[in-house]
Amino acid sequence: MGKKYETVIGLEVHVELSTKTKIFCSCPISFGEEPNSNICPVCTGMPGSLPVLNKKAVEYAIAVGLGTGCSITQYSQFDRKNYFYPDNPQNYQITQLYMPICTKGALEIETKSGVKNISIREIHLEEDAGKLFHDQETSSSFVDYNRSGIPLIEIVTEPDMENEEEVIAFIKKLKSIIQYLGASDCKLQEGSMRVDVNLSVREAGAKALGVRTEMKNLNSLKAITRAIEGERKRQEKILRDGGEIIQKTRRWDDEKGLSFAMRGKEDVKDYRYFPDPDLIPLRISNQWIEEIKASQPEFRTKKIARFKKEYDIPDYDIELLTESNYMAEFFEKTANLCGNPKKAANWLMVETMRLLKEKGIEPKELKYSPENLAKLIGLVDKKVINGDKAKEVFHHMFEQNMDPEKYVEENGLRAVRDERILKKAVEEVIAGNPKSVEDFLRGKEKVMGFFVGQTMKALKGRGDPEIITQLLKERLKEGL
Ligand code: ADP
Ligand code: ZN
Ligand code: MG
Repeated sequence: MGKKYETVIGLEVHVELSTKTKIFCSCPISFGEEPNSNICPVCTGMPGSLPVLNKKAVEYAIAVGLGTGCSITQYSQFDRKNYFYPDNPQNYQITQLYMPICTKGALEIETKSGVKNISIREIHLEEDAGKLFHDQETSSSFVDYNRSGIPLIEIVTEPDMENEEEVIAFIKKLKSIIQYLGASDCKLQEGSMRVDVNLSVREAGAKALGVRTEMKNLNSLKAITRAIEGERKRQEKILRDGGEIIQKTRRWDDEKGLSFAMRGKEDVKDYRYFPDPDLIPLRISNQWIEEIKASQPEFRTKKIARFKKEYDIPDYDIELLTESNYMAEFFEKTANLCGNPKKAANWLMVETMRLLKEKGIEPKELKYSPENLAKLIGLVDKKVINGDKAKEVFHHMFEQNMDPEKYVEENGLRAVRDERILKKAVEEVIAGNPKSVEDFLRGKEKVMGFFVGQTMKALKGRGDPEIITQLLKERLKEGL
């Protein structure tokens, strides 16, 4: 007891790139297809087949490299990592060991204790493997090569993180950059982003790094947090008891809350890497790098700072709206068109996000345009329609983009503003509910809600609740 320990963490993050086709063949990438339907001789490792590099995959890798402050390696190559496994039909994986496409970057993260720089050692391009399914019932295994050859980038950090808070902040920041670039959707649950956590523990103040373990199978931020807590405790206990950490790959079981040894950690030399003779070296011109640089989006950190300056809306709204670049740009266009940023933010954060979630779709799949949302906001601002009708119009717009101004006219949704009609409706409600009027006159003010509701109904929902309340109050002063 008594000894203090500190934790050291480095990450290896695999990200599937959103290209239309695989990295070395033209097989389409799509999910949820029949097993082995998107395959060809290249991605199933048939003898004599030859890989051809996908330019878009390289472009995404460069974009992520630039977005994370890396230097781009202008002359690089691919290497073969040799190993046998049934999901790897070539018996080697094409990757980059000696000359990764991006090196020496960094991301700035913010935690409760302040701002910290996390160094990125490298980003390399490689291909994904197929997937194995083990059927307990028949004790057989099946293999699906649809995933084989999907382009991946692997982002390797320096062991610069000390705790789960820093790790989560780093992952969120990285995710946001990659999502803003459209390079991947980075879904941990679905495996389009896969985080391996390397963790060691050492006596506080010690210079040398401790022996680390590597944890895989972490498919949510919560699982990552729990795995770090669990592994730190496990290692600290071993050290306290005078034991030794064995460098191993461990599988995190989130249900049990424990990690299990999978295999001894292999060394680079075990894989007999060598440059892939089937692929020519990759040369990246200055001009190409400049073009990619010029088309980078404004990333989230910058956007948040600018929104805070330019729009008078709460910080909470800004956080939410900038989670997706598409949503942030949608907000900006709408706010500028209608001149009412708070209303634009509300429609997006409340109704839009609720429906997106309910239907399980992404912001970029939104059907309606900022122009039409701005028009709808204008209709409410000018009291052409009331709030209820606005929601009705909005739902139609969400389903099938249409011009809300036209829609309101064609469907007769304009709010009734003619005083004579309004007064007539009020009069009828009062005449039809003498008992409630008496209640009201005796001081039961709650009945007002009922009167407003009845009047609205008489106007087929097209009244303005404020005006109606006003008219009712005036009329009730006169008694029955
Ligand atoms: P390997 O070649 O075995 O994969 P690397 O040196 O490439 O090992 O490191 C892999 C990852 O492990 C990197 O993210 C790195 O930051 C991290 N790492 C390396 N040593 C340690 C350590 N002692 N403690 C925690 N993380 C470490
Ligand atoms: Zn293929
Ligand atoms: Mg490594």
